[in-house]
Amino acid sequence: MERSLIIIKPDAVNRDMAGRIIARFEEKGLKIIGMKMELLHPVKLKEHYSHLKDKPFYAELEKFMSSIPSILMVVEGKQAVEVVRKMVGPTQGRDANPGTIRGDFSVSNQSNIVHASDSADSAEKEIERFFRKEELHEYKKMNFEWIYSKDEKN
Ligand code: UDP
Ligand code: MG
Repeated sequence: MERSLIIIKPDAVNRDMAGRIIARFEEKGLKIIGMKMELLHPVKLKEHYSHLKDKPFYAELEKFMSSIPSILMVVEGKQAVEVVRKMVGPTQGRDANPGTIRGDFSVSNQSNIVHASDSADSAEKEIERFFRKEELHEYKKMNFEWIYSKDEKN
């Protein structure tokens, strides 16, 4: 099963949306294997957003992302990275389709509610960046039998 990192960003925490966002991933059938609250440090953010460090908006992005704590989650499922990105929608909230998280809750290209890993490779790196091994939990869920068909369960 694949893993993806989700960050419920400061705008969503400020707007009391964490519960609703978490519920959407649960309802989809993704398994939460790690979750915590953390005030993201600028040093970690520079790593996390290294692909954007030369952009004119980077300073504002860092300020926003380190303004109040975020909620970080690791979810697991078949093709979890792609499934989560589809649920989240494109970066610009105004372009995101209704039904996606950004489409339903954001009209911004910065305050866009969640971060989601964009490939299996970056998911692995991001999970390692934000979670210690002992913060990730392997456990069997009661509803597992009802989430996937027999031939999908590996
Ligand atoms: N961002 C921004 N201004 C922009 C583009 C992106 O502030 O013009 C922020 C936004 O919060 C976005 C994050 O930078 O989610 C990371 O950008 P990326 O291109 O990786 O988009 P994502 O993968 O989050 O859709
Ligand atoms: Mg990205």
